[in-house]
Amino acid sequence: MAERPVVLIVGGGYVGLYTALRLQKRLSHGRAEVVIVDPQPHMTYQPFLPEAAAGSVEPRHVVVPLRRTLPRCRVVTGAVTGVDHATKRARIAPIEGQPYELTYDVLVMAAGSIARTLPIPGLAEHGIGFKNVGEAIYLRNHVLARLDAASSTDDPEVRRRALTFTFVGGGYAGVEAFAELEDMARYAITHYYPRLSTADMRWVLVEAMGRILPEVDLDMAAWTVRELTARGMDVRLNTRLESVSEGCVVKLSDGDEFASDTLVWTAGTKPNPMLKETDLPVDERGRVVCEATLQVRGLPDAWSAGDLAAVPDLTKETEGATTAPNAQHAVRQAKRLADNIVAVLGGQEPVPYKHAYAGSVASLGLHKGVAQVYGVKLKGWPAWFMHRTYHVSRVPTFNRKARVVADWTLAAVFRREVISLGQLQDPRREFVEAANTGRTGSLPPPSAADKAQSGSMRAS
Ligand SMILES: Cc1cc2nc3c(=O)[nH]c(=O)nc-3n(C[C@H](O)[C@H](O)[C@H](O)COP(=O)(O)OP(=O)(O)OC[C@H]3O[C@@H](n4cnc5c(N)ncnc54)[C@H](O)[C@@H]3O)c2cc1C
Repeated sequence: MAERPVVLIVGGGYVGLYTALRLQKRLSHGRAEVVIVDPQPHMTYQPFLPEAAAGSVEPRHVVVPLRRTLPRCRVVTGAVTGVDHATKRARIAPIEGQPYELTYDVLVMAAGSIARTLPIPGLAEHGIGFKNVGEAIYLRNHVLARLDAASSTDDPEVRRRALTFTFVGGGYAGVEAFAELEDMARYAITHYYPRLSTADMRWVLVEAMGRILPEVDLDMAAWTVRELTARGMDVRLNTRLESVSEGCVVKLSDGDEFASDTLVWTAGTKPNPMLKETDLPVDERGRVVCEATLQVRGLPDAWSAGDLAAVPDLTKETEGATTAPNAQHAVRQAKRLADNIVAVLGGQEPVPYKHAYAGSVASLGLHKGVAQVYGVKLKGWPAWFMHRTYHVSRVPTFNRKARVVADWTLAAVFRREVISLGQLQDPRREFVEAANTGRTGSLPPPSAADKAQSGSMRAS
């Protein structure tokens, strides 16, 4: 090992940021160089994305800037496109310029997961995921733009299609996004759209299994379905999305077909496919095979944790059980992983990771939620309050905590903001139109982004 080893962290999400924060604190100056690589200059606190989409939290406050938070680490904005651990070299594609190789001594693989999609006709062209801040804010603008469109037309078909919102996947990310956005649209219609009624909206959640929210007990999941149904939302269990046609007609496995301008895919995740470009061992689900110490199997200088790692779950008796892909494990694993790196660099033994899953909290809109923590089951306002308290205690840095609480306070005092800033999706349009009009005297056709914002979510 080099005198001043280079610790390369691939990914600046939950695992990457928390590992770097801990290493920055625990490795005194000069003991190691920590390099963190991520295509984004920030970590995203994903549990706040539904609230960001609903306008309760500012988008900038659900992300944590890496350079500001990690002053003693080297931050590289780019993607790792492959790793050859045998020679300890990683290929980096920076956001600009030629790709290059970076040599390291210790590897932390923390590149997370991507949306797990299926080859459903029309899905790639019409759907959108819900995993990053761009998608969350796009959806917020899109939903509000659909209310504007519905309110400004007398065509019943256009109005029906604009006001039909389809979500696929009933895990916590999908259910929270579905419920939060509906709550926002309901609020907007009640206060600012006199030509629309909340009864005009159709919100459909499609789930292939016979239940939603696998993170909580069945009775809590069934209560959530009843709660959403009582709000007029349509939850289809044991149903699959079969296709989406050109005119955004959604076809379901129960035979139903309807036109919907909005199709959000939240049906699970899979490990980052970049792992295929590495020589790290992966299991049948494509996850990095780890020991309980979070070391990659057979490679003591390589570590991994979070959504892309198969970490043995020592709290379960079942053979081969691994920890679930969620933030609760990601944060704790990152701290253990960093402590283990420090221990090994100091010639000590690493400690196995062990944590029993504490439970889940989910927000279903303002003052609405469902929670099950350490066996305690909460519904409605208490669950929502617990959701907020828990997440504000977890979001990294005091700065972010303060900003999120300030957002909530301002929204409580001045009501929430429900304005579509669709222009953000295509900021140059007006200028290009002005420039082209001056030249040819006619308007250019609308751009892809403009079409996407003003109508269905078609990609081109
Ligand atoms: C909407 C939503 C809500 C959620 N709510 C909850 C919740 O309430 N409770 C809970 O426990 N969990 C929740 N989760 C899950 C939780 O956010 C994840 O389990 C957690 O983020 C996993 O951490 P990670 O570090 O493995 O991955 P991530 O946090 O996703 O980080 C991966 C990082 O790797 C980067 N990256 C990707 N490819 C490359 C590459 N080639 N090179 C370099 N970097 C790369 C990405 O940009 C990203 O920053 C939610 C997830 C979503 C999407």
